[in-house]
Amino acid sequence: MPELPEVETVRRTLEKLVIGKTVERVSVLLKRIVQLPDDTEAFALLLQGETIRSVERRGKFLRFMFDQYTMVSHLRMEGRYGVYGADENMEPHTHVIFHFTDGTELRYKDVRQFGTMHIFPLNQDLSELPLKKLGLEPLDDSFTLEAFRDKLGKRATKIKPLLLNQEYIVGIGNIYVDESLFLAGIHPEREANTLSKQEQAKLYEAIVATLNEAVAAGGSSVKSYVNGQGEIGMFQHQLKMYGRKAEPCLTCGHAIEKTVVAGRGTHYCPKCQPLKRPKAKRSGS
Ligand SMILES: [Zn+2]
Repeated sequence: MPELPEVETVRRTLEKLVIGKTVERVSVLLKRIVQLPDDTEAFALLLQGETIRSVERRGKFLRFMFDQYTMVSHLRMEGRYGVYGADENMEPHTHVIFHFTDGTELRYKDVRQFGTMHIFPLNQDLSELPLKKLGLEPLDDSFTLEAFRDKLGKRATKIKPLLLNQEYIVGIGNIYVDESLFLAGIHPEREANTLSKQEQAKLYEAIVATLNEAVAAGGSSVKSYVNGQGEIGMFQHQLKMYGRKAEPCLTCGHAIEKTVVAGRGTHYCPKCQPLKRPKAKRSGS
């Protein structure tokens, strides 16, 4: 499943390819991709004559900003966008086609068919489901150490599932949680409210650094992922933890262990990320 860096890479690529293009018509070949409006003809009609002004992102959702509408798109497992000439062959599993007035097409392909599209009046998507419940946006200016600490300190829950919870913080999936916790030297099963101020700051920095590095590398292709220009992300070559069970930790050389935390395969170094016994609960700090 693409994580935030992959979706951000797709967004940046799409931005170069589709901004300023005007929709002539939309072909919906697979109805289940279109969630709102539930009538696919209405979906197609809303975008007719609309021009894409920008492509934004909230968590792992792409937001196509038209003149009057926002189209929210989630790629889920295998969704991909590509821009083609109208005369180019249609690849299998192409489900939605946005035909532009300049003779090019934005095609949405999805082998697994789990992707979704919703149309809202411009910007109303942020206050509606599925976006309204999303938590902190880790690549945004609003993601400050204070904002991160604010909620973290109060949670009597394991740190890994908390970081995976999209209502707390968006877009960090299994891979980047493991990488960030390693970088911060924090065991995935530590209780969030037992982290020291220093550990909170290290984790905050680790999340930002890991995601920025991944975006710079064009996203990860641990599970096959291709961005909007057909380029494959390269971040898997830089993963320090994920998928390296029994290999030596790059910091200390100890064998990396794999366990299951909150139902997810979890990689960690028992030496660099010790599961400290939480001390007696301090009050008021
Ligand atoms: Zn280590």
